[in-house]
Amino acid sequence: MSLPLPKSLSPSKVASFKDCALAFRYSVIDRLPEPPSAPASKGTLVHRALERLFSQVPAGHRTPAAAMDQLDLAWGDLRFHPELAGLALDEEAEAEFRSDAARLVANYFELEDPNQVRAVGIELMLEAKLGSMRLRGVIDRLELDTDGELVITDYKTGRAPGIPFENSRLGGVQFYAFLCEQALGRRPARVQLLHLGEPLAIVSVPTPQSIRGLQGRASAVWTAVERACASEDFRPRPSRLCDWCAFQAHCPAFGGELVTAASPATAPPTNPALPTGTPQPAL
Ligand code: SF4
Repeated sequence: MSLPLPKSLSPSKVASFKDCALAFRYSVIDRLPEPPSAPASKGTLVHRALERLFSQVPAGHRTPAAAMDQLDLAWGDLRFHPELAGLALDEEAEAEFRSDAARLVANYFELEDPNQVRAVGIELMLEAKLGSMRLRGVIDRLELDTDGELVITDYKTGRAPGIPFENSRLGGVQFYAFLCEQALGRRPARVQLLHLGEPLAIVSVPTPQSIRGLQGRASAVWTAVERACASEDFRPRPSRLCDWCAFQAHCPAFGGELVTAASPATAPPTNPALPTGTPQPAL
């Protein structure tokens, strides 16, 4: 008996497996329901507002006021989606949630002028094969710089990583660069992470060596996932991330009982995918 392999790996799935194999299994393979989280839902709302800013508002009109209008419209798009509705915010909590989202959108303007950005793709799903595995990722924004080179931008709404975590999180940057090179035939000149909370921009320049390194790391993770699925051996790895883990009740590290493949706790996710409006690249 073995567990089914995931159909693909994304940067978040790679990070999840490295953080804790058991949480990865529950989320990606068993797909146990996870309660909505306020930080993740806020990130979804802010991403939608910025997506709307670029797809609905022409360059020259992308002001902070226009962005706030798009944030209000994004709230209208998403407020009844289970990811937001499931938070069951009361009036005060909703006001605080929306005000925090507005702060993140306002901070975005500290990092760049969206009127100068030549976006050619927003919320762009890219995928590529690497050996027997399929890698997939959604690029928040793909643009052309003044030299006509590709630049990938990823918005981050959580806290910027500390130095020890920064390198591992920048692995996701190489992942996006690899996808771009494979799917569009060109390596991006830069990948930038815009941390809206601080606000802070972290810029990385992908190289052939850095992309080769990503391929090696992703292949190693895939081999480990294949082995774990074949042996049904996904071990818990307790860390400070456990404080936010939805699976403590099924985690032996917390005295919980392991869910087996035949367990009734195994169920499809309750949240349908969020709707997206996704202009495609015009390269
Ligand atoms: S509680 Fe911690 S160790 Fe257990 S599954 Fe979650 S992240 Fe892993």
